[in-house]
Amino acid sequence: MTASSPRAEVVIDLEAVRHNVSLLTARASGAAVMAVVKGDAYGHGAVPVARAAVEAGATWLGTCSLAEALDLRAAGITTPLFSWLDVPEVDFAPGIEADVDLGASSVDELTRIAEAAERVGKTARVHLKIDTGLSRNGCPPAEWPALVEAAAAAPSVEVVAVWSHLACADEPGHASVDLQAKRFTEAYDLARAAGLNPIRHLANSAALLTRPDLHFELVRPGIAVYGLNPVDTGDDLRPAMTFRSTVVLAKRLPAGESVSYGHTWTAPRDTTLALVPTGYADGVPRSLSGRMDVWLGGRRRPVAGRVCMDQLVVDCGDDAPSAGDEVVLFGAGGAGEPTAREWADKLGTIDYEIVTSMYRPRVRRRYL
Ligand code: PLP
Repeated sequence: MTASSPRAEVVIDLEAVRHNVSLLTARASGAAVMAVVKGDAYGHGAVPVARAAVEAGATWLGTCSLAEALDLRAAGITTPLFSWLDVPEVDFAPGIEADVDLGASSVDELTRIAEAAERVGKTARVHLKIDTGLSRNGCPPAEWPALVEAAAAAPSVEVVAVWSHLACADEPGHASVDLQAKRFTEAYDLARAAGLNPIRHLANSAALLTRPDLHFELVRPGIAVYGLNPVDTGDDLRPAMTFRSTVVLAKRLPAGESVSYGHTWTAPRDTTLALVPTGYADGVPRSLSGRMDVWLGGRRRPVAGRVCMDQLVVDCGDDAPSAGDEVVLFGAGGAGEPTAREWADKLGTIDYEIVTSMYRPRVRRRYL
């Protein structure tokens, strides 16, 4: 043991990432695949995941902020990169110099990109975003003709793509998907009529897996890259993240004794407890207290009492765990261990949020 021995670790299986990306590439009807690695690759680590995704066939990478994109460039990644959402104060010049494609949702944003391009003496590669109904960023249809006209007239800008994002693709059959697709095509047609020749991208993971008619020239899967399937299509996606720890102490507890803060759990019989040095400071939500299991010694076992900041306690009955035994908090689920989806369902959220919030200073990340 050293001082840096992890109390808990997140293990990322890059072979699973490669497998998922090659499956998604095969499912993309010939469209190019942009692996979305924003949010530190949904908590999996942007640089290693980006490299694995590119090895497996992704020909684009997508980040939200320019800073995320520049971190990938600083790591030596030369793959085409698209970043789409920044604050008005951001200086686009370093992005243009580093060959990062930029999203533009308004004439104002386009103008700032064009000015930065003039400053560095380079053409900015821009993807014009039409808001087809998600009503977040993206240009409202009423302002689209002006944006297209401004882009076509800007000498320092090359319009690479027209793109949009779907609100309800994870609910197959939802009427909004067709409506968004219709508005998307209208916006694209208008850009073509203005003399532009952009590619199109619209599909996230859910649309990639369920709507081949919406693949166009480029798809933008995120969550499926990490092996989580938002539409349960039965595709062989492999969850890449396992959250694990280790038993540090095992001890017997007599019937009638209670466990952890608030004494919310009392042993109904003599039992063996396993102490795990992982708590809410490490990413185990305290609100899972009393309703979570871990995988220990080849089976599921309930957590007894409240999850604390640094530790939790597992009820092992008459089994005899030992210090050093592995504890899986969540994993791929193949053996029966809890999954990120199971946590999400219990917490009233989505597995995106579970994995993305797993970047913690005290939790070591290890790559397979
Ligand atoms: N494109 C954009 C603009 C996004 O914001 C996201 C994620 O939220 C994605 C693509 C990937 O979506 P998903 O993770 O559902 O595949």
